[in-house]
Amino acid sequence: MVGEIKINNVYKSFKSLDPSKEDTLALNGVDLKIEPGSFVSLIGPSGCGKSTLLRIIGGLDKATSGELFLDGNKIIKPGSDRGFAFQGSNLFPWLTVEKNIAFGLKARHIYKKEKEEVQKFVDLVGLKGFEKSYPHQLSGGMQQRASLARALVGHPSVLLLDEPLGALDAFTRMTLQDEILKIWKQNNMTMLMVTHDVDEAIYMSDKVVVMSSRPSKVEEIIDIDLPRPRARSQDTFQ
Ligand code: ADP
Ligand code: MG
Repeated sequence: MVGEIKINNVYKSFKSLDPSKEDTLALNGVDLKIEPGSFVSLIGPSGCGKSTLLRIIGGLDKATSGELFLDGNKIIKPGSDRGFAFQGSNLFPWLTVEKNIAFGLKARHIYKKEKEEVQKFVDLVGLKGFEKSYPHQLSGGMQQRASLARALVGHPSVLLLDEPLGALDAFTRMTLQDEILKIWKQNNMTMLMVTHDVDEAIYMSDKVVVMSSRPSKVEEIIDIDLPRPRARSQDTFQ
């Protein structure tokens, strides 16, 4: 099975633009191994480096030192093997749903069967009939669905989700949690999802990776040995 991620001693520092201030050490020696096909959640305090780590795995940013591998290949740039979705969906407001999703294909240099591929993922995330809609014409949940579709076109073996459900109401959030789980199961993908919600992490994941902020590294990895499908915490609705 593909989708194994290995992270060895990764550091990332951001240069300060103000010479009187120190550089920010956003990642301070992160080691992590993610099994192919597993669902891993990443939690930790604000500013501890979760998004930075995800961006580096996605190839959108570079580590200052250390190495990252996907299926034994060094990660140096974005690739069609990784899909990325952010909080607040980050759709292009001037493009329709189908054009946003088609962008995902072009960004991965996939040019064949564009129409069929886009339609397949429109259907998968339940947006049939909204192909020609613009993001502002959709609810938050539907925007997030479109964003998921854009990350999924091209069949990546790894899906990187940065607080994908953070901005949604409780009901939409639960619906999308179950749909993400379904997509994960059907597509044999490795999932790495940043979340602030501990219930969400426990409900969805095989492992919860806890990061600390000083130093910014992996503090603990918790195995969630619960059968699936799982019961929800009673607190979720409160
Ligand atoms: P998290 O996602 O866990 O909240 P981030 O990865 O966004 O944390 O940020 C980690 C640290 O790196 C923070 O102190 C943040 O201010 C800093 N940081 C993130 N991106 C940049 C950047 N592009 N330039 C400078 N500092 C950054
Ligand atoms: Mg973040």
